Amino acid sequence: MDAVIIGLSAAGLSCLDALLKFSPQVKVTAISEEKYSPYCRCMLTHYLGRIVREEQMIIKDISACPPNVNLLFGEKVETIDLLKKSLTLSSGKKISYDKLLIATGANAVKPDYYDEKKRTFTLRYMDDARKVEQHIKDSAVVLGGGFVGIKAAYGLLERNVKVEMIVSSPYPLSLVLDEKTARFVEKDMRDAGIVIRTQDDIAEINMKKESVAVSLKSGIEVYSDVVVVGKGVKPRVDVARKSGIKIDLGIMVNEFLETSAEGVYAAGDCCETMDVARKVPWINAIWPVAVEQGYFAALNILGANTPYAGSIGMNSLKTHSFHLISGGVLKEEEGVVLYEKHFPHLKQFRKLAVRDNVPVGMAFYNCPEDAGLYINLIKKGMPLNADPVKIVNGELSIADMLRPF
Ligand SMILES: Cc1cc2nc3c(=O)[nH]c(=O)nc-3n(C[C@H](O)[C@H](O)[C@H](O)COP(=O)(O)OP(=O)(O)OC[C@H]3O[C@@H](n4cnc5c(N)ncnc54)[C@H](O)[C@@H]3O)c2cc1C
Repeated sequence: MDAVIIGLSAAGLSCLDALLKFSPQVKVTAISEEKYSPYCRCMLTHYLGRIVREEQMIIKDISACPPNVNLLFGEKVETIDLLKKSLTLSSGKKISYDKLLIATGANAVKPDYYDEKKRTFTLRYMDDARKVEQHIKDSAVVLGGGFVGIKAAYGLLERNVKVEMIVSSPYPLSLVLDEKTARFVEKDMRDAGIVIRTQDDIAEINMKKESVAVSLKSGIEVYSDVVVVGKGVKPRVDVARKSGIKIDLGIMVNEFLETSAEGVYAAGDCCETMDVARKVPWINAIWPVAVEQGYFAALNILGANTPYAGSIGMNSLKTHSFHLISGGVLKEEEGVVLYEKHFPHLKQFRKLAVRDNVPVGMAFYNCPEDAGLYINLIKKGMPLNADPVKIVNGELSIADMLRPF
């Protein structure tokens, strides 16, 4: 069997590793548009902060791949011919497949005023981080208060860069957190020295002498060396769409991660699977979910018919001023009861969302202990074996939770 993988990051690499683990002789071609050995994208903000060097981000020693693996870097897949089961690459080369995995990930959203000549960059690929690195001296505007924006802001603080963050919503992390939890994050960020301008947005960017002049809709003008845009991501579905594969939010797949085309699978940020907390198809665009899906795609490519149960959104954000672990959904909605407890003297906060005695969301602020347990309960849809009030009060240990019913 000839297996082909498009994209060699979290999902593609996990699929490659699993294919080789369970079928060492399988012939695999993996194609990556990027020129580099697979690296951990999550560390781009650490790279900007000079906390890690580029070579420390590499996650696969490609020289150790067996001869039945063909890795093509710096090549983009332009089209997929589903009838002929073949791909056309940017170089004009054609590659045929028996089974195909699409693991094309996502692109960063670029606003209308995005212009690299005005030192405005997104932060998705190594090339983006290199461009920021090339222009930054001592100040930056970060646009967007999501996880990537916050990680970028803290990364830049590490190298003594003055950071101003522009957030269009009333508080950071508004898409994933409830207001109360998010306000803790906002306060700690301000205390760490990040200037945060909420409910504002960029109207225009111009170069003024050596500085980038960022005009905000509120009328304020901010000067900096660069603008780093963190306005979310869009799944990369262009190649799949052109071939006729069905797309909704992302590439649609069945429980075996197979797309509408037989023998063609999808995994990672480009595809939508069941969100077990929301109970609707969703894209949980995070590294561990991409890895898990790449693994399940490999099992199914090899014919093991192993259903993928779905995922939840989860995040761990550890900075020098706070540690937040969150997962699932925390918004108020019918049937969901929210439990919370704040310990001001410890700067700790615990919040749990429960539907029909099953946890569907959580946020633990500065108290990471046992967070993994609750993330797992949410993911598996398992009922609580304890009073949620005692959980948020921190009165229970894992041993209490694991005691049989
Ligand atoms: C700055 C930053 C920080 C992050 N931090 C975290 C974090 O702390 N925790 C977390 O869980 N997640 C984090 N993420 C998200 C995480 O990196 C993604 O969820 C993960 O990389 C998704 O993996 P993927 O394999 O689906 O796609 P990607 O990592 O996007 O990789 C897709 C690959 O496919 C290639 N490709 C696309 N189209 C083609 C084509 N047509 N031909 C050939 N190649 C193609 C792309 O160039 C890319 O190399 C972060 C992301 C960023 C950008």
